[in-house]
Amino acid sequence: MEDNNRRKFIKNVGIGAAAIGTAGLAGVLSSCKGQKQEEQAVKEEPKAKTIEWKMVTTWPPHSPMLGEGADKLAEWIEQMSGGRLKIKVYGGGELVPPLGVFDAVSQGTAEMGHGVAYYWAGKVPAAQFFAAVPFGFNAQNLNAWLYAGDGLKLWEEIYEKFNVKPFPAGNTGAQMGGWFNKKINSMADLKGLKMRIPGLGGKVLAKAGGNAVLVAGGEIYTNLDRGVIDATEWVGPFHDLQMGFYKAAKYYYYPGWHECGSALETIINKDAWNALPDDLKAIVETATYKANIWMISNFEAKNNAALRELIDVHKVQLMEFPESVLKEFKKLSLEVLEEIAESDPMSRKVYDSFLEFQKNIYEWNKIAEEPYQKLKHL
Ligand code: CA
Repeated sequence: MEDNNRRKFIKNVGIGAAAIGTAGLAGVLSSCKGQKQEEQAVKEEPKAKTIEWKMVTTWPPHSPMLGEGADKLAEWIEQMSGGRLKIKVYGGGELVPPLGVFDAVSQGTAEMGHGVAYYWAGKVPAAQFFAAVPFGFNAQNLNAWLYAGDGLKLWEEIYEKFNVKPFPAGNTGAQMGGWFNKKINSMADLKGLKMRIPGLGGKVLAKAGGNAVLVAGGEIYTNLDRGVIDATEWVGPFHDLQMGFYKAAKYYYYPGWHECGSALETIINKDAWNALPDDLKAIVETATYKANIWMISNFEAKNNAALRELIDVHKVQLMEFPESVLKEFKKLSLEVLEEIAESDPMSRKVYDSFLEFQKNIYEWNKIAEEPYQKLKHL
């Protein structure tokens, strides 16, 4: 990507009062009323008012796939409701700062939000289990836990006291391990390594002796290029290519052990939700399912072409983390997760459910998915 375009892209990349009317119909007409009265009643029926909501997001406006996912969700809800529920989408910083999304929805400044649950870890530690767990669920496992296990119920429970209702609204699929300027051959290579890696993955790197730093999306490239940081992770090839990291780092590592299938969420203020008629509630819920499948499908479909371009055109060296390093990362990840669970009763409850579901689904995966993965390469 040319510098100009890259700058434009980076500029667009961050960290990532409603008029709620009565949408109900005039009321049920009693059959004992005469035809004339009935016609009169129909004439006087108030037109269903349009409900207008604001959706604040953690994304730069219309950013590819992520902000786009928020735009599409709003568009589908309006379309399915025949225009009865209109949602105006705000990019991060346009109405509230990206990391102010949860509070804005909780307080009702906006009726709806779109982002990732790990951004609220400081306020709701258990939220981290609904975003990205190192060595945790892939997208398919996570959806199974959320929709068909206790996952979503627990997620609703932890947001309840904030007057917020969550819905899964997308998934990035497996991410990449990140960009490095030196090879990672053993844990010793991580000592003192200054890497931009947020969330639980950052806690694991810190345990491994590295230095996990938070850098806003728009500043990562410059920091990497100038050596302010030694390494960074971002998302996957599709997004990383646009960020131009290949110009500032030699090695592109996989797998993304720290984000094996990161979930996006949409959150709704409970008062606004409760004021919706049942059909609009069903429409909103259905649209979130569509948003979830739309995003994972697009990530899965577009990443490989971008990876080929990075390797073939930009001569990036694709590297796999050594098994010894991954084993250590896994051990440290389990320690980090246990520490979070120990520090907060709700995290304990969520993590226990997560582990129970994981045990069950991995047994099934061993019989069904894993042999099939091998069959693909026969
Ligand atoms: Ca990431």
